Amino acid sequence: MAAALIDGRAAAEALRQRLAITADFFRASTGRAAGLATVLVGEDPASGVYVRSKGKATREAGMQSFSHQLPVDTREADLLALVEQLNRDEQVDGILVQLPLPDQIDAARVIDAIDPAKDVDGFHVVNAGRLAVGADALVPCTPLGCLHLLKEQLGDLSGAEAVVIGRSNIVGKPMAMLLLGESATVTIAHSRTRDLPAICRRADILVAAVGRPEMVRGDWIKPGATVIDVGINRVAADEDGKTRLVGDVAFDEAREVAGAITPVPGGVGPMTIAMLLRNTLVAAHRRAGLKVPEDL
Ligand code: NDP
Repeated sequence: MAAALIDGRAAAEALRQRLAITADFFRASTGRAAGLATVLVGEDPASGVYVRSKGKATREAGMQSFSHQLPVDTREADLLALVEQLNRDEQVDGILVQLPLPDQIDAARVIDAIDPAKDVDGFHVVNAGRLAVGADALVPCTPLGCLHLLKEQLGDLSGAEAVVIGRSNIVGKPMAMLLLGESATVTIAHSRTRDLPAICRRADILVAAVGRPEMVRGDWIKPGATVIDVGINRVAADEDGKTRLVGDVAFDEAREVAGAITPVPGGVGPMTIAMLLRNTLVAAHRRAGLKVPEDL
């Protein structure tokens, strides 16, 4: 029987509706809307699309969006000065500096400069550290979205064998920490892992965050497993000459074996922006000294 499809668009839409209600409550109790500032340096078309859709989603959820567009030759010192200004701005609860940055700017230094309380991407070492020790953190949006989908699909994850392929600071490592926080038994695989197919076959939960089109084959998957495909890879199409998006998992094969699977597109992707809005609201509540609602 083919695996159930995990519908990230529907899950993200449901979450965004809840967030809009919370954003209204926040505005009613504080007299101001929660605010997200986005910073885009340069004119990379893909980054421009991401930043604009983040701004639109922020406004649709009843929050304020402040967008800053800087030229491609911006000096690091000028970007750091903007970050400092946003750190001090009371209207701004979340700061998102769109990556990648141009070569003359050290991204790590910029991330370090963001106030951890406003670091809605969850990339600051303070937030990574807080996640690692199980304290309240702002957690990177993509793995947070994956966890949301997994909990909706499976409920309790405790004791599950989870395998995360990929160890980036943005996806793989925080994903593993979140799963550990849910008491799953977690294995992190990467490019030096020996016999990756055998390790994947142990997984009740398999998260692929690699960036290699369709690397995970159907026979790597344990029958009935839940598969979360984070990969977004653009590949040449066969006949019509147009490119198409595929994940890190060979979807058609995997669907025959898995119990449930996220499609690409329409799986993890839509959850990422919803979680950015969620993190902005969490940051806003904490900054205002309000209790973070439990269903966020
Ligand atoms: P990175 O390139 O930072 O990390 C990739 C990871 O995959 C590394 O840990 C690498 O191992 C590992 N890897 C590479 N090749 C292999 C291999 N042959 N076998 C096992 N592991 C391997 O990527 P990201 O984590 O940033 O992103 C991963 C994917 O997720 C990409 O396709 C990206 O586009 C997508 N993505 C999707 C998002 C969404 O919103 N849906 C958001 C963010 C990312 P090593 O460390 O040893 O080099």
